[in-house]
Amino acid sequence: MGADDQADYGPTWYSGVTPLPAPRTPLNYDLDVDVCVIGGGVAGITVAREVVRRGWSVAVVEARRVAWNASGRNSGFVMPGYATRIEKVIERIGLPATRALWELSEDGVQYVRDAVAEFGVDGIIEGNGWLDVAKTPDADAALARVNLLGREMGIAVEGWPTERVRDALKSDHYFHAIHFPGAFQINPLAYMLRLADAAERAGVHIFESTPALAVDPAGVRKRIETPNGRLRAGHVVLAGNIHLGAVAQQLADTLVPITAYTGVTQPLGMRLTEAITFGGAVSDSRYADYHYRIVGGDHLLWTGGASALPHNPKRMKRRLERALRATYPQLGPVEFERFWPSQMGFAVHRMPQIGEVQPGLWLASAFGGQGLNTAAMAGGLIARALVEGDDTWRRFLPFELVWAGGRVGRTVVGATAWWWHQSEIVAALAARRREEFRRKRRQKEQGAAKTTPKTAPKTAPRLAYREVAAARRAPPDRVATGEHDGPIGAPEAKPATTLAPVGAPPPPK
Ligand SMILES: Cc1cc2nc3c(=O)[nH]c(=O)nc-3n(C[C@H](O)[C@H](O)[C@H](O)COP(=O)(O)OP(=O)(O)OC[C@H]3O[C@@H](n4cnc5c(N)ncnc54)[C@H](O)[C@@H]3O)c2cc1C
Repeated sequence: MGADDQADYGPTWYSGVTPLPAPRTPLNYDLDVDVCVIGGGVAGITVAREVVRRGWSVAVVEARRVAWNASGRNSGFVMPGYATRIEKVIERIGLPATRALWELSEDGVQYVRDAVAEFGVDGIIEGNGWLDVAKTPDADAALARVNLLGREMGIAVEGWPTERVRDALKSDHYFHAIHFPGAFQINPLAYMLRLADAAERAGVHIFESTPALAVDPAGVRKRIETPNGRLRAGHVVLAGNIHLGAVAQQLADTLVPITAYTGVTQPLGMRLTEAITFGGAVSDSRYADYHYRIVGGDHLLWTGGASALPHNPKRMKRRLERALRATYPQLGPVEFERFWPSQMGFAVHRMPQIGEVQPGLWLASAFGGQGLNTAAMAGGLIARALVEGDDTWRRFLPFELVWAGGRVGRTVVGATAWWWHQSEIVAALAARRREEFRRKRRQKEQGAAKTTPKTAPKTAPRLAYREVAAARRAPPDRVATGEHDGPIGAPEAKPATTLAPVGAPPPPK
């Protein structure tokens, strides 16, 4: 099935299972509105809906179709937080300000949940809970993170020990995990089409196949040129993500475009439901490649391969299939029956860019790999700022616009991301090798213990000593012992002494 068969939404899993509307008419006359939104992704449509609900007139111009890019092709995880690690945000703005930002990100999650409930249709929500899984047994780091999130930030998270993780995800690639029970998953295209429909019914004018060619932001009434019509608006919201380009080149240059790939397997039947008994979404750590969940009962949706550098999609497909088979060899010869690329935009600091860049010109951008909640949040913030004069958006001012360095800079960022990813693969591989080595040694020692005649008194103390020494050399897998199983913040949980980032190489043994 070709891209065109699915009315511009490409050969994705979602376009195959979601009823697609007829294209909307392009703008072919002149129009005056209070607010013109450029871009019909989750950011643009949410801000438009929230502005119109507050009584102002709004038009959205979308170069292609609503949600044809990242907003309708992503992995569908709706979870609190941002595309960057929260530790980085704390480093920059401190704990109280980070808490406030986290709460805003939770408002974004709630926005999506409420919107789906308002739409009153089944089939948009597809799963519940999110597991952020470690690929190394660095229990101290995991425990520290759980404490940071649970106790210091007050977030509802649970630390899962390795046994519990492997019970839910039958893969020896994984160790402990952090579970976010409030996260959920959606069919993002179905969500976006409903959201656009709701916005339109509330009064938003949406024009598809209408690229904004130029914006003149001077004066009280801004002018927006499109091929067959001109808009005049009191305010313009730029929500074009990485495709904004020449319309606002300097702003576009603050984004690093990253392409990631998603595949959906053929039906895998019981093999899949036995291998993965968890009903939510899984990331095998934030900066690693793979994020996945079950869709359609027995297909696995698997996202990865994020890179700023171009890749051959066929090679990338094979790479992702190999990674899936290596993680779950029991699934057998898995292949993707659907496979598609999608692009997202990151700021250098990996936080969203939300705010007024000059009087009447607003930016809602750089949501990176976590845009469903953060773009929903941005939509509400900008609408409140415009109509009610609310200045909550200013909490994002510490994350200023940073030039992303043009082509050279972007290549460096891409290469750095590649290096990071490789170093994490090495750490994960080393962890599995160490585990395998310990398992074999234990087996050998137990075998030796069984065959040792009781009349050999010197051997027993020596074996006991070696086991203690091995246990001492192993990282203190406190999460794995179940000491912190269950909701974080329980009174008996000991505070962490160190705050090492999860995914950092384990200490030398
Ligand atoms: C593979 C992948 C998986 C992801 N998974 C998740 C996930 O599980 N959870 C999550 O929260 N986030 C996820 N994301 C991130 C999320 O999808 C994005 O952050 C979010 O969709 C960005 O929304 P947006 O509205 O800013 O941009 P887009 O969806 O890119 O929309 C921008 C729109 O603006 C239009 N446009 C641009 N310039 C112009 C112009 N001049 N005139 C008119 N229109 C214009 C474009 O045509 C486009 O439709 C993922 C991203 C990718 C790539």
